[in-house]
Amino acid sequence: MDVNSSPLRVAVIGGGLVGALEAVLLARRGHHVDLYEYREDIRRCPNARGRSINLALSHRGRAALRAAALESTVLAQGVPMRGRMLHAPDGRRTPVPYDVLGKECIYSVNRKFLNEILLSAAETFPNVNLHFNHKLVAADFDSGELTFQAEGGARHVPAPQLLVGADGAHSRVRAAMLRRPGFDFRQSNIEHAYLELRIPPAPDGTSLLQPVNYLHIWPRGSFMLIALPNEDASWTVTLFAPSAQLGRLCAHPHEAPAFFRERGMADALLLLGEEQLRADFAASEPSLLLSVKCEPFNVGGKVVVIGDAAHAMVPFYGQGMNAGFEDCLILDGLLEKFPPEAALNEFSRTRVPDAHAICDLAMYNYVEMRDLVARPSYKLRRCLDSV
Ligand code: FAD
Repeated sequence: MDVNSSPLRVAVIGGGLVGALEAVLLARRGHHVDLYEYREDIRRCPNARGRSINLALSHRGRAALRAAALESTVLAQGVPMRGRMLHAPDGRRTPVPYDVLGKECIYSVNRKFLNEILLSAAETFPNVNLHFNHKLVAADFDSGELTFQAEGGARHVPAPQLLVGADGAHSRVRAAMLRRPGFDFRQSNIEHAYLELRIPPAPDGTSLLQPVNYLHIWPRGSFMLIALPNEDASWTVTLFAPSAQLGRLCAHPHEAPAFFRERGMADALLLLGEEQLRADFAASEPSLLLSVKCEPFNVGGKVVVIGDAAHAMVPFYGQGMNAGFEDCLILDGLLEKFPPEAALNEFSRTRVPDAHAICDLAMYNYVEMRDLVARPSYKLRRCLDSV
């Protein structure tokens, strides 16, 4: 610690992907960290429900994991994806590599595994305390006191020197910031919702969907199906569709196979299995998608929001977690360089425009992935790629 020679007492709210990584980075700098997570410890919970089973990890996220000395551990369990594999309604497939030389790739990583690695890494530091089953219900920015709903009732915690809100898209910390003058907040809900399905491994343990090292996409105008590979040769398949349509299929699951056939996704249906598809629709509810922009990200030198709490975005750019991890990396550098107030002001000044741009790009990709990937310009790009 150069500038902050005395360690800070920091409360991190949220032990999801971003909060857990933030705790690790703060702990590496010698700060005292109390991390409060609403849910039980995901490591002791076999069926923890996340918003998506696997995520695409790209270079932004990898850089932050590297700073926490966790990149190689995470990549060892990830499945590289070297491009998109587009599935046409007639079953034809077109690869679209992520770069001309075929060297670049993103990784499909399991959300639960990643969260567990990060929490366990945080726990190795003597200056970190993890508090599960602690839901922040009030944050008084004047006194600094935090109130949690915990087992056995309300728990009041005296003011930390720094409060980091990494409590997701519906952040309580951000809600408390709304009462401060000059704080701007916008939320957009989109028409589309999503539902997760699964292609199991083949009986011999190999992958039913080939080739493995691609992000498979069935772009169908107002519908889109994507599949990301898992380490165990299964695939997590996400169907994006207008929420009314998805709701109807969940209410009438026997219609789901016909829906897949009529929209030119018979090849996916074969792998998902008709019976399993009906069962999955019957057991699911569509999850809604939203985009959040706010500014600034801080209140003086005492409070800051990061990750989805600061900039939840629609998932079509695959950058929500990556951008949240990048927040951690940038904040880490600023806290090392400046006193807390200057660091947090600088974080807002530089990070807000970038975060808003990523939210906009994600919204743009919402249109692109559904429609543009099926257009001839993509086929032209494929020809150029193969030159
Ligand atoms: P969260 O993951 O929401 O974690 C917040 C944590 O805070 C949770 O553990 C929650 O329990 C806790 N919490 C909430 N309220 C309180 C409270 N009051 N008190 C205490 N704790 C609280 N991103 C990518 O980079 N790549 C992808 O491929 C990708 N795919 C996605 C696919 C889908 C379908 C969706 C929906 C999102 C996807 N994302 C992806 C985005 C990614 O999931 C999020 O950006 C990421 O999870 C944000 O992490 P976070 O820690 O900020 O928030």
